[in-house]
Amino acid sequence: MSRVDQVAERDEWRCWICDEPVDPGMSVNDPRGPSVDQVITKARIKAMSKAGDAVEERLAHRGCNTRKGAVAAVAPWPPHLFIADPAPIIDTVEALRRKGGRSVVGRSPSKADADEVAAWLADRVSRLARDLDLRVAVEPGGGQFVVVLCA
Ligand SMILES: [Zn+2]
Repeated sequence: MSRVDQVAERDEWRCWICDEPVDPGMSVNDPRGPSVDQVITKARIKAMSKAGDAVEERLAHRGCNTRKGAVAAVAPWPPHLFIADPAPIIDTVEALRRKGGRSVVGRSPSKADADEVAAWLADRVSRLARDLDLRVAVEPGGGQFVVVLCA
């Protein structure tokens, strides 16, 4: 089994950045084809005992892979969710990995909207940060509902 296949099986053929499926039959040269991304963050280096442990291999579409550019990975929020001031998902998760605690990820106008955001986020971070036990809470605040991610 190739390295790409190993990582892909573990990540269940889903891109760690855009969260969309990766087609096993797609050429590795295609932008929608599979590739192995190497995820290294300062938070990870601090959390791990050795720098070598801080490199995590994740499945990404070739077009989403962060290795080809020096840009930080950005996991998109889906457009159908009602969330104001959405926090960057990967940065928030990495900050919680480093410091623990809790972090507000956004605000929704109604409880139902906030619950929908919370359900989506809980599912999303369960794949994004499999090694962390993150919880999502919805709390009333300022006439709105605040969605909070807790480590
Ligand atoms: Zn992708």
